[in-house]
Amino acid sequence: MTIKENLLAIKNSLPEPVTLVAVSKTKPVSDLMEAYEAGQRIFGENKIQEMTDKWEQLPKDIQWHMIGHVQSNKVKYMASYVTLVHGVDSLKLLQEINKQAKKHDRVIDCLLQIYIAEEESKFGLDVNELNELLQSETFKELQHIRVIGLMGMATFTDSEAQIKKEFQNLKAIFDSTKGITAANFDLSVLSMGMSGDYKIAIACGSTMVRIGSSIFGTR
Ligand SMILES: *Cc1c(COP(=O)(O)O)cnc(C)c1O
Repeated sequence: MTIKENLLAIKNSLPEPVTLVAVSKTKPVSDLMEAYEAGQRIFGENKIQEMTDKWEQLPKDIQWHMIGHVQSNKVKYMASYVTLVHGVDSLKLLQEINKQAKKHDRVIDCLLQIYIAEEESKFGLDVNELNELLQSETFKELQHIRVIGLMGMATFTDSEAQIKKEFQNLKAIFDSTKGITAANFDLSVLSMGMSGDYKIAIACGSTMVRIGSSIFGTR
């Protein structure tokens, strides 16, 4: 199957409200162009340097999503063009994104990453940290970021029951957080699901899936 065939098959299988982020990390720009020519406009990368290189080379109507762990000192390289930052897991990082967005007179949309997996290595906030962040005065004063949703990754396991439990947990957190109102806070996006688990994620209420290897092949 070609990239185009993979992409269109997945796209056609997604229910209407679910947005597809084509995860193109490590892949050459020629692969991204193939997906672009098949109609894809949202691409996800996990390294700021690589994303910026690709942004420079590719058509400017592409929306770039940073899906990886973000280092504060690199935010400045993507602040002029990034569409959505998925992996925000601290107030300090939000403050840095806010500072860099301000320099470009922009508001950058962000998702807060929530820790739902059993693995030690996964980044993210727990529910208490999430609530603490949202209720802090420092957060409420940030005018150049907007938190529009939550993001999470399930444990890498063959157990569908476990993955389902974790996604249901994230959906419950999402629903319970929805009631909070602030000028820079408006939850509409629930980013969960990758190649191996996106069908489960959608059944659990995902509105945005991040799919790489099922489109572009193994890395
Ligand atoms: C790489 C990556 C994906 C895509 O993974 P696939 O299994 O290739 O679909 C999704 N989300 C994040 C955060 C990633 O780093």
